[in-house]
Amino acid sequence: MFGALLDELEKWSDTGKVAEFWWRDDDAQKSTKQLEQLLVISDRHRAAVSLATIPHGVQVSLAEVLSGRDQVSILQHGFSHRNYAPPTERKMELGWHRDDEQILGQIQVGLGELEGLFGEQLVPVMVPPWNRIDSRVVEKLESTGLRGLSTLGPRKQQFAAQGLKQVNVHVDIINWKQGRCFAGENNCIEQIIAHLSAKRAGLADPGEPTGIMSHHLVHDAGCWAFLDELFGFLRNRSSTSLISAGKIF
Ligand SMILES: [Zn+2]
Repeated sequence: MFGALLDELEKWSDTGKVAEFWWRDDDAQKSTKQLEQLLVISDRHRAAVSLATIPHGVQVSLAEVLSGRDQVSILQHGFSHRNYAPPTERKMELGWHRDDEQILGQIQVGLGELEGLFGEQLVPVMVPPWNRIDSRVVEKLESTGLRGLSTLGPRKQQFAAQGLKQVNVHVDIINWKQGRCFAGENNCIEQIIAHLSAKRAGLADPGEPTGIMSHHLVHDAGCWAFLDELFGFLRNRSSTSLISAGKIF
């Protein structure tokens, strides 16, 4: 199936264009075996990775294991990853279920927490838990000190609100509905090609890097093998580049 990706990338090099990618991994909070496995892959391929980190309860062990790793960026993943929506609705932390002051106040506290722990590794970008955020909250995010937003699916515009650049992810390597297992190589490559070809055709914003989303805490062997293979494949290819969050936002 990597052959099909190669075919797509040839179309990019034929037109002298570089296909840009980025890697976002969600739900970091502490140093774990799974996180170390992720860092091995990132190190092996010198792949820049952005860890969407939950501020509430974040542990010093995470800052310690990431210290000195300049290919790792920290993004803000909500505040506590708590669901405030009733059971009849889809899960959401940053929705309309609480008033603005409560929501924005927590975001600000969380951002301060991450700044204190991670310093320059922090790129002040909000990754809303479950990739969902109310548009009313989006409008006010910049006032908390954040300068970016990242959800799921092709962005509609470059700026979600004034001063708030949006760069999403487009490829989910996990099949959540069937037991949180690897979505499969064919499925993942298809998701990548779908976004690349939409960008080529002008059906998706060509300026938005294609985002690979992973969740290190729930990866099975298939997820790990795919990430290893994918970043090995993308590495050193003249028609691709993997960009860090610092450069994107
Ligand atoms: Zn999450």
